[in-house]
Amino acid sequence: MSSKPFASSADLAAKDQTLEVLAEGVYALTAEGDPNLGAIEGEDFVVCFEALATPVAARRWLAMLREHTDKPVKYLVLSHYHAVRVLGASAFDAEVIVAHEQTKVLIAERGEQDWASEYGRMPRLFDQPESIPGLTWPTATFSDRFTIDLGGERGELVLQHLGRGHTAGDIVAWLPKQKILFAGDLVEAQAALYTGDAFHRDWSGATLDGIAALGAEQLVGGRGAVAQGAGAVSAAIEQTRGFLTTMIDEVGSVQARGGTLKEAFEATHAALSPQFGKWPIFEHCLPFDVARLWEELAGTDWPTIWTAERDREIWARLQD
Ligand SMILES: [Zn+2]
Repeated sequence: MSSKPFASSADLAAKDQTLEVLAEGVYALTAEGDPNLGAIEGEDFVVCFEALATPVAARRWLAMLREHTDKPVKYLVLSHYHAVRVLGASAFDAEVIVAHEQTKVLIAERGEQDWASEYGRMPRLFDQPESIPGLTWPTATFSDRFTIDLGGERGELVLQHLGRGHTAGDIVAWLPKQKILFAGDLVEAQAALYTGDAFHRDWSGATLDGIAALGAEQLVGGRGAVAQGAGAVSAAIEQTRGFLTTMIDEVGSVQARGGTLKEAFEATHAALSPQFGKWPIFEHCLPFDVARLWEELAGTDWPTIWTAERDREIWARLQD
């Protein structure tokens, strides 16, 4: 394999951002494979979903949102702990920052290391990194479910943890009345999966089953286009599951026959490339994905912390 630029360090072209109105007062921002965001209007407040990598990047999204509503942001919901989803939080001036209790644990344990790691992997997403005031700390956490009454006839927004998946603490935001789901990085629609902090077996089984059972008719994944219609929602969920089960099969069989991590990477790359190879961040993610799955299948339940140094070491072993 030829030498490849580290992770997404050579990806410098700006992506077009598109704000879509999914229903009255329900907004999604997609960006050609860059991290997606959402917002849900209540009667007299707004709930924002995800915060991007820096306050400067987040303020650009807020300026687009402000063309539709000027209600204050009462809740900022963080689907999980990753830096490119949370470090822009200060721009929202939210009354409450909501996340899963394990997200708070992960920020305390590895937030600093993850910040350095993600900055090294995806520098383009960190627009004016000096605008980040520090780590983002949730001010309200929960274990299973957190319900926000939107007021009037708007119904409820239900935040749910459906099991371990992309991280130990992912949550989804579900609008039962509108049948719209913000799935965070638990579902990707035509973008590769990052699984470097994942629990692949839980994710590909009960967690995705729980997402499918909600019966969403529109789904905003972590990256990629909004899935429109029950068929597209189901396809996005099953693409995500297929990526995971292919990884589990390939890495598992190499490990079972006493092969090496490098062999597992090559087998997984070959198996996934035909369907997923052209999708955003596929080459970037796969070495970290396989390294995590390798340790998970070998019995390490809690993911090893990614540091900028470990990133480079794994990349050199697998992708160079
Ligand atoms: Zn993530």
